[in-house]
Amino acid sequence: MVLAVLAGQRIGALQTLLPLEPLENRILACHALGITRIGLITQSERLLTGAEAATLAALVARRLAGEPIAYIVGRREFYGLDFAVNAAVLIPRPDTELLVELALERLPVRGRMLDMGTGSGAIAVAVAHTRPDAGVTALDVSGAALAVARANAQANRAAVRFVQSDWFGAIAAESFDLIVSNPPYIADGDVHLAQGDLRFEPAGALTDHADGLSALRTIVAGAPHHLAPGGWLLMEHGYDQAAQVRALLAAGGYSEVRSWRDLAGIERVSGARAGGAT
Ligand code: GLN
Repeated sequence: MVLAVLAGQRIGALQTLLPLEPLENRILACHALGITRIGLITQSERLLTGAEAATLAALVARRLAGEPIAYIVGRREFYGLDFAVNAAVLIPRPDTELLVELALERLPVRGRMLDMGTGSGAIAVAVAHTRPDAGVTALDVSGAALAVARANAQANRAAVRFVQSDWFGAIAAESFDLIVSNPPYIADGDVHLAQGDLRFEPAGALTDHADGLSALRTIVAGAPHHLAPGGWLLMEHGYDQAAQVRALLAAGGYSEVRSWRDLAGIERVSGARAGGAT
């Protein structure tokens, strides 16, 4: 239906013809035509070819079926950098920029950081891009995710070492000044998994298929064996998990246990330092 409406139309008429909200209409029109938003204006009098109309109609149909715009165009901005994304990785969220900022504040000069469950590489690449002196290692259990993350590191000229590992499984006796993670923390059966973008994202990046805390527990338990004395562990978690994560950290013998709020005012990241608890 959209296709029949689009063929032969002026590019300048697309915004009123397409059924999505203005920003999404523009993003998909630019993507289908391979032009920038400036191009939409300078070429506004040109008529859509049949092939362009078909391409654009197919993209709009995917969006109308609920597919996230980031997967349709294969890109998402995070921390001012451009990231490739596909269905093998979680779409980077603005909330997670808090974790990047906290990490940058705590990473010593030439410090070593480990990002656990890197997905698209968003956190590791943002830190390594901002701090070329740092030694950044990122792991993921998914080879498909690591392929995306490697490409993102290269495209953003960020030096990141990637390791395929099931949590601490493949990192032996290595030690870091800082460990960060945005692990799967949504509980099995949570209604959000069946809503919006999450329906299209990799389940293994979203949920632990348990109570939502099992990956966080694994990280809290293992990190002391891989942190330099006084090194920080910082973890993103769900909107209602901060108190539980602080309790895990306190029980694990960490010191300076605390949580930080995201821009929405929600306790979104919790962390602590290895050892030193008295
Ligand atoms: N923040 C994501 C969401 O709730 C979940 C990310 C995660 O599980 N690590 O949409």
